[in-house]
Order: sequence, then structure tokens, then C-alpha cells
Amino acid sequence: MILENLEKIQKTIPSTVCLVAVSKTKPISDLQEIYDAGQRHFGENKVQEMTEKWEVLPKDIHWHQIGHLQTNKVKFIAPYVHLIHSVDSLKLLAEINKQAEKCQRVIKVLLQFYIAKEESKYGLDYDEAKELLASNDFKTFKNIQIIGVMGMASFTDDTSIVRKEFSQLKTIFTHIKTDFFPNDSSFKEVSMGMSGDYELAIEKGSTMVRVGSSIFGGR
Ligand SMILES: *Cc1c(COP(=O)(O)O)cnc(C)c1O
Repeated sequence: MILENLEKIQKTIPSTVCLVAVSKTKPISDLQEIYDAGQRHFGENKVQEMTEKWEVLPKDIHWHQIGHLQTNKVKFIAPYVHLIHSVDSLKLLAEINKQAEKCQRVIKVLLQFYIAKEESKYGLDYDEAKELLASNDFKTFKNIQIIGVMGMASFTDDTSIVRKEFSQLKTIFTHIKTDFFPNDSSFKEVSMGMSGDYELAIEKGSTMVRVGSSIFGGR
């Protein structure tokens, strides 16, 4: 069933969009099943769970940290994480840089933006992001690479609201690209879209969708 779900979703996604299979709470056997069919990008929101899975699964998997990340947990994923989607403070970015340096790596990250109507504790607004990117601290970070933005739309059936929020994130991406990364071709990712809204997200310019329950079933 999982494999059929994956294939169905792949058919609706352009080949230029990265499909991150969100496997949080799901057993190793579920991940292995789609790994065997060629899936290489997996998303998890808990550091301990992701690390346990990384330890036993093949090492060519690209692990995406998509959930809120506490600074004291960064060291556990620094040796292997492929992309951290949830950077929402300078303090967290500083810690990622520090741990990446220890591992002699450059860790790729996305800045998470707060775009939904709902109360959420996580995510930057545009002014906070500008302040972070203009700071002197940021300029000293040699072991991180910001390659784009991430956001979550409101949980609503009103597609006009969801479309508006995804457009808003795309606009933020464009402004940040123009102001801070004009000559950096690696700043190109817009991580938006989940099971319920990834088609709308792609319509609005998503380059990376994070799909869990539509592949693995409900949690
Ligand atoms: C769980 C989660 C997803 C996937 O959600 P589904 O609705 O199961 O597709 C995507 N992004 C984040 C940040 C998540 O926590």
C-alpha cells in the first residue's frame, strides 16, 4: 500500500520538485520498503528518532530535520543530517555552525517562516530574518549554508487562504534572494506543502514538498 501511495504521489509531482517522505512515528520496515523502491529523502521531526533510524538504515539516505530543533540537540544530528528545515533563530544557527565545524562539515539549512494564521511558536517573520542575515555574527559562520526558506500553511479547507500563504512565502523567498543571495545559485529552495496541500504549494512555486500521511498512512 505504501508503495502504491508513493507512486501515485510521484506521478503528480514534477521531477524538479524534491519529495521528502515524512516518516516520523513510522517503523523502519516502512522506510525500508520505499527505500528499496528508490526513495532517498526522508523527513523526521524528532532528533532521537531520526538518529535511531539513521543508525540502522542505508547511509545514502538524505535525512531532513523538519521539526523544531532545540540547540542542545544539534550535536546529535550534525554528523549526518542532509538539510535542517527549521532554523528560526540566530542562536540556533550559531550552534549548527559550531557543531558542523566540529564535524568538518558545511550543513545546509532553510530559514523557517511563520506564514499561517494560527498561533505558532516557531518561525521567523520577514524583519527578523533580515536582521539575522544582516548581523555580524552571521557573516562569521563558515560551516552553514542557507539554501532557502520553509513554511507551513494554515490547516484549513479554505484553499484561498492556503494559496495566499504559500504565495506569501514565495514572495519572502524572492525578496531574500534579491537582497542577500543575488549571486548564490544554491539559494533556491522553497520547502512548502504537506499531504493536504502539496499540489497548491507546487502551483505557488514549491521546490520541496514534505509528505507523510499520504504515503505512510495516518499517525
Ligand atoms: C508531520 C509534518 C509534515 C507531514 O505532514 P502530513 O500531513 O502527514 O503530510 C510536514 N511538515 C512538517 C513540518 C511536519 O511536522
